[in-house]
Amino acid sequence: MVTENPFFSPSSLPFQLPPFAEIRDDHYEPAFERGMAEQIAEVQAILVAPEPATFANTIEALERSGRILKRVSAVFFGLSSSDKTPFIAELEERIAPRLSAHGDRIRLDSDLYERIRAVSERVAAGEEQLDAEAVYLVDRYLTSYTLSGAGLGDADKATLREVNQRLSTLTTRFDTDLLDDTNALAVHVADVSELDGLGADAIATAAANATSRGLEGYLITLVLPTGHPYLASLTNRALRERIMTASQSRAARDNDADNRPVVLEIARLRASRAELLGFRSHAAAVTAAQTAGTPEAVDALLRRLAAPAAANARAEAAVLQEQIDATETDSTLASWDWAFYTEKVRAARFDVDTSAMRPYFDAERVLRDGVFFAATSLYGIRFEERFDLAAYNGEARVFEVTEDDGTPIGLYLLDLYTRDSKHGGAWMNSFVSQSRLLGTPRVVTNNLNVPRPAPGTPTLLTLDEVTTLFHEFGHALHGLFATVTYPRFAGTSVFRDFVEFPSQVNEMWMLWPEVLANYAKHFDTGEPMPQEMVDRLIASRAFNEGFRTSEYLAAALLDQAWHGLSSAEAEAVTDVAEFERAALERVGLADRAVPTRYSSTYFSHVFAGGYDAGYYSYIWSEVLDADTVRWFEENGGMTRANGDRFRRHVLGIGGSRDPLEAYREFRGRDADIAPLLERRGLTES
Ligand SMILES: [Zn+2]
Repeated sequence: MVTENPFFSPSSLPFQLPPFAEIRDDHYEPAFERGMAEQIAEVQAILVAPEPATFANTIEALERSGRILKRVSAVFFGLSSSDKTPFIAELEERIAPRLSAHGDRIRLDSDLYERIRAVSERVAAGEEQLDAEAVYLVDRYLTSYTLSGAGLGDADKATLREVNQRLSTLTTRFDTDLLDDTNALAVHVADVSELDGLGADAIATAAANATSRGLEGYLITLVLPTGHPYLASLTNRALRERIMTASQSRAARDNDADNRPVVLEIARLRASRAELLGFRSHAAAVTAAQTAGTPEAVDALLRRLAAPAAANARAEAAVLQEQIDATETDSTLASWDWAFYTEKVRAARFDVDTSAMRPYFDAERVLRDGVFFAATSLYGIRFEERFDLAAYNGEARVFEVTEDDGTPIGLYLLDLYTRDSKHGGAWMNSFVSQSRLLGTPRVVTNNLNVPRPAPGTPTLLTLDEVTTLFHEFGHALHGLFATVTYPRFAGTSVFRDFVEFPSQVNEMWMLWPEVLANYAKHFDTGEPMPQEMVDRLIASRAFNEGFRTSEYLAAALLDQAWHGLSSAEAEAVTDVAEFERAALERVGLADRAVPTRYSSTYFSHVFAGGYDAGYYSYIWSEVLDADTVRWFEENGGMTRANGDRFRRHVLGIGGSRDPLEAYREFRGRDADIAPLLERRGLTES
């Protein structure tokens, strides 16, 4: 018997969880085919309707369209990030340009554009009575169709289509190259003595990595950012240098996985597309539909921070050099030394040894007694693991989330461990996005890249990994609390320079006294983390912020530099490394000891991940975050009343309203930048 393709109808599993156990490789392509055909038919039906365009027969009908495509895309692209098999990689290269062409066919349809404009005019003239979410939806549709080029003439549209398809191929290529070269550049170590400074579990992980590739000895796999976490503890300077050099050379090595030509072509195509749409640069086109509005507003914020950050980093470097001079001779601080000596100075000045904290960060306790506990305290929600429901990979876990009174909310999937098939970094995505119109519930996922401990030993997280888990869970809450009518506004479907705000706010609970006391217990003895350790950690937090802010700002400004190019300017760039150096020098962030968090050839966020001309978003939303943290602090901290207010005004509305207007209602005023500057120890002089 031939079973029906599981993507053709909604899943019958709880919360419409995709039936992963039934999904086979050969289901994807037919589902993409049928999904695209179905949506084209739905759009045709909208266009041939004899009645004049109304909200219901045009905008709402568009929101209802493409359900098979949504289902298959959510699963396929979720797996492309979390568990990319050679099959998925191959199909993605083929299907991505076709999906892009499909999207263009709809977004560039002149008749559809005319109908959307007609609806917008009817609404403006008061001929349709719609609720606020629907009115906002009409506005968003008109903006996005205009920005996508629906108003262009036929020849320009044809060019646009070609550019979009080529870009789609290139961005996929970028990530595939990066994954290949990251795997190829894993650092091989023959003798365990070279790993001095690493904990037993990290050494066991490195040994297992080597074995899994049929190698003797140890293998250190690279992480997405330039700075590898092991650089903080490895005492062998030559090995630190090897790791740093490998990280920085990714996808820039004159081999099959060289991303330099890819970067140049992406920058040129994006610039020429922007010009076609009537913008000076890609950054100008992107920010036109963000809360920031213009690249100038973005640059103003970044530059306001760059000078004090660089000055602080220089002061930190002087302190680190003193530390080096006191222990070694003839050694000048290099990028691979920064984290190592920072830890030494941190230990000396604040007596904080972050590796001594790890025994207090047992992953299971951090999750249940930290992350979940804070969410329960703030929002009254509860979590129960559903062993009866299967995720896409045996390593991912499934939790059901309910309100205080038992009302179901959705499913939360957690995929903690690193795999060769997993994209680097950490993220949240949705398998099912909430919408009242479609009657869809919520299934959200968090992915991290925690190294798997040796069998029989607990997973002990680093301080950074604990932060990441709280952060990603903030995105998950945004998806889980979504209560919107239209799918376009579901959960995290907000402006990109707003989307990091809820996740950043959620990080505040990690060191909140009641939360920390509840989860930070020794994995073996159950003893709470000593209070003086906590106090010292908090006291040390502004330390090294010059470095952290600088490496981030360097990446953000690099993104602005690539995407701020006009078409002619982009054509003139031929050398990626040279362009980078010049861009960083211009803003005073070209310090070789403080490398940019991502160099262009492995800056996946902006060349493949949808953060193009948008990496600034993190600091843009951190302004809101720091201001919100202050609000919680001034209003009684972790209470249900505060949580509910934040949920009502921010988390629950998804993208269904103007975000800054909603923020104003939540806060009683616009966000203030002072809390951010204070948090990062950046005082403007
Ligand atoms: Zn995030």
